[in-house]
Amino acid sequence: MTSFDLSRRWAIVTGANTGIGQAITVGLAKAGADIVGVGRSVMTETEAEVKAAGRRFVAIAADLSEPGVAGKVIAETLEAGATPDILVNNAGIIRRADSLDFTEEDWDAVLDTNLKSVFFLCQAFAKAAIAAGRPAKIINIASLLSFQGGIRVPSYTAAKSGLAGITRLLANEWAARGINVNAIAPGYVETNNTTALRADAERNADILKRIPAGRWARPEDMAGAAVFLASPASDYIHGTILPVDGGWLAR
Ligand code: NAD
Repeated sequence: MTSFDLSRRWAIVTGANTGIGQAITVGLAKAGADIVGVGRSVMTETEAEVKAAGRRFVAIAADLSEPGVAGKVIAETLEAGATPDILVNNAGIIRRADSLDFTEEDWDAVLDTNLKSVFFLCQAFAKAAIAAGRPAKIINIASLLSFQGGIRVPSYTAAKSGLAGITRLLANEWAARGINVNAIAPGYVETNNTTALRADAERNADILKRIPAGRWARPEDMAGAAVFLASPASDYIHGTILPVDGGWLAR
């Protein structure tokens, strides 16, 4: 029988304190996974929800935009007694400005956090999984801007389009090594990341009009896809970018 059971597995989730990362963490814990939460902010609320689901929670404090941090995160994960089974690269930032005015600082900040750090976390995690001889799952959190151009978010579009590319590249390199690399592309989700967008009445109305489901996504809408891509049910799925977008890309 196809299994969505994640018991006896550890899931490392970056940016687990809030938004999509928090909802995915809780979804994975309810499916049976123990959790390593990685982030630069306190994760007490997420920890409480994971423990309420009867699972273990290890917190690792890290600023993922700093060079060399990926190796430290995976080393601390192993020191804590967790196994490298599931990695969810969720942490991300966005900077909005017209491309004519866009600064180098806003370019580098987004590329470092949303793309460079994801690649090196995948690398450190895959090395640990291969060394442990365990099958593993990597889930990258992509975006509609892995498929579309967007507007006023040049570094974010570059990072998320690049993330779709490295998801496919790593799947090609690691599928035969027992590591599934896939991504989820959330549509428009009610989180801190989109507060500015939702506050702009005109943009908000335009977006809502175009979503076949007729509503913004809630962070919890991402959890089912994450459990699926983390579980044995997706063992033959490699290099896919799964939109969870209320039908946006189908329009
Ligand atoms: P959010 O702002 O609520 O959460 C972002 C998380 O990333 C937070 O936990 C934050 O602490 C963490 N983070 C950011 N920079 C970090 C750093 N340098 N080191 C460690 N942690 C860091 O936003 P969200 O909407 O939940 O975003 C989660 C992911 O989903 C992001 O990758 C985002 O690009 C993606 N996404 C969001 C939407 C949306 O509509 N909200 C749509 C598509 C994709």
